[in-house]
Amino acid sequence: MNAKIIDGKAFATKVRQKVAEHVARLTADHDLAPGLAVVLVGADPASEVYVRSKGKMTVEVGMKSVEHKLAADTSEADLLALIDRLNRDQTIHGILVQLPLPNHLNEDLVINAIDPAKDVDGFHISNVGLLATGQKSMVPCTPLGCLMMLRDHHGSLSGLNAVVVGRSNIVGKPMAQLLLRDSCTVTIAHSRTKEIEALCRGADILVAAVGRPEMITGDWVKPGATVIDVGINRVEGDGKSKLVGDVEFDSAAKVAGAITPVPGGVGPMTIACLLANTLTAACRANGLDEPEGLTA
Ligand code: NDP
Repeated sequence: MNAKIIDGKAFATKVRQKVAEHVARLTADHDLAPGLAVVLVGADPASEVYVRSKGKMTVEVGMKSVEHKLAADTSEADLLALIDRLNRDQTIHGILVQLPLPNHLNEDLVINAIDPAKDVDGFHISNVGLLATGQKSMVPCTPLGCLMMLRDHHGSLSGLNAVVVGRSNIVGKPMAQLLLRDSCTVTIAHSRTKEIEALCRGADILVAAVGRPEMITGDWVKPGATVIDVGINRVEGDGKSKLVGDVEFDSAAKVAGAITPVPGGVGPMTIACLLANTLTAACRANGLDEPEGLTA
């Protein structure tokens, strides 16, 4: 193996420490504790685990954490009424509605009901537009985490060729926007892309956000490239289940210059960036300086 392993777990710990230090200063100097409200509808076990760990880490960095667990058959009107209350609650600076929502609820409608200034997931249509036009916005947590790791590794990203495999609204598209904003030359690949392997082999930065276990192998990777593996796929093998990324780690690590592992790469950065976004939202809401190095 030649590649440097980009340790997302260690990086996320540093981000959370930075957030905690900034929160401590806010509390001491301005009597302000950023507040994050997480709304969970239904009892999806994976979502419950995420929500619990978000709540725990929110408290650990000194923020206020509020959880709203609603029954799976909650009506759209009741959910929208809760969001309205949270929008008006001055002690809440970030609102996250855990996705996916049960089928009877319109996700777009619900997400766009969140005050864009409190939309710490960065999914509100206003934030999508602000990001696309290079303006100050709330940035989706997973791509923000990837960007932080890339900036840390490369310094400047200017002029690098980036290929993002995947065009979802939550990862692929915002990732491409962020890379473009940092002056990469960006190509977005997807399931209809022709000669995708050759395209990926031209990338100085290769971001995989596909949801297909180990699809990208070492022969897709340009020697020395930086590979960011967003994929989280549970696979069965030898009677055990394990997590793998969208990149075949062993073969890619022989060719790449740097690579994120799964688990322990992008995943831990996502919650750290949620906390960073909540802090940013609290600073903006109170007209205070934003934390350095924690935003796009
Ligand atoms: P989506 O399913 O929404 O999007 C997948 C994208 O991959 C689509 O654009 C699709 O193309 C493309 N794709 C599918 N098959 C191929 C193929 N054979 N060749 C090229 N492109 C293909 O997934 P998400 O963006 O939500 O998530 C992607 C992965 O990242 C998943 O494994 C998910 O679990 C993980 N994830 C991890 C997070 C973290 O915190 N680390 C957070 C969010 C997601 P098309 O549009 O043409 O269908």
